[in-house]
Amino acid sequence: MIISRFAPSPTGFLHLGHAYSALLAFQLAKTSNGLFKLRIEDIDLIRCKKIFHNKIYYDLNWLGVKWEKDVFVQSDRIYIYKNYINFLNDRGLVYGCECSRSDINNALLALDKPFKYPNTVTYPGTCRKKKLDIWSNNIRINVDKINHHLGSPTLSFNEKGLGPNGEKGIQQFDLQWFKQTLGDIVIARRDIRTSYHLASTIDDFHQNVSLVTRGNDLFYDTPIHVLLQKLFNFKIPNFYHHKLINDQNGKKLSKSKNSESLNQLREKGMSLDEIKSLIEQ
Ligand code: GLU
Repeated sequence: MIISRFAPSPTGFLHLGHAYSALLAFQLAKTSNGLFKLRIEDIDLIRCKKIFHNKIYYDLNWLGVKWEKDVFVQSDRIYIYKNYINFLNDRGLVYGCECSRSDINNALLALDKPFKYPNTVTYPGTCRKKKLDIWSNNIRINVDKINHHLGSPTLSFNEKGLGPNGEKGIQQFDLQWFKQTLGDIVIARRDIRTSYHLASTIDDFHQNVSLVTRGNDLFYDTPIHVLLQKLFNFKIPNFYHHKLINDQNGKKLSKSKNSESLNQLREKGMSLDEIKSLIEQ
């Protein structure tokens, strides 16, 4: 049985891109008699607002999407993420990092090898041996130690949708590749005690999600989630990355300053069918 999900961050009102994502995840579950779950990813307490959170339920109802009762709200679950960090810390697989962004950039410039992978710059390891307290710093994974702990595994996931460069089917990677391309990433920010990667991976497991459905801008983060799933001994779900909906100027909607919310489109008199035809083009 497919269990899919929609996991918006309430940093603004839902727009056409969200509508597409929610309707697709709902459809994928329903066509297989599966379940569709909802999760509010509001760990960023400064950018997320209650007004946006509350409107999500209204918008989804309007779209005709029906979700299961076990809605997760991540800001209520920080203590759960903390237990998982302790699990990694007890095994020596994470460390505290006091570097600021500019410290990291300077260190990378000194090494003369700023390495860019979508969304990430690899961390040069400045704090790896400092034994800093994890709870008063950012928390990073130690990829070398994890590789050793897991016995140099080859990890994989099944892409059921399409990555940004046409990736489909089984995707494999090992931790040498992970180290070179992603590095010792932050899994808990000092200010919020978690990260999107950690919270989302744990919650997909706790919500029994079997098909992680989301925009393909997150495709290149998937190895991070698969690595965390392996570390926590979670079953690795399938992934379905979907196209992004752009505005009239070809700009990604979430980044587009003047992207209209579903609310505004509704107020202009647009019907649900018109919305659906816009996103299915
Ligand atoms: N919360 C993320 C967003 O609104 C989505 C994350 C996910 O689907 O894994 O962009």
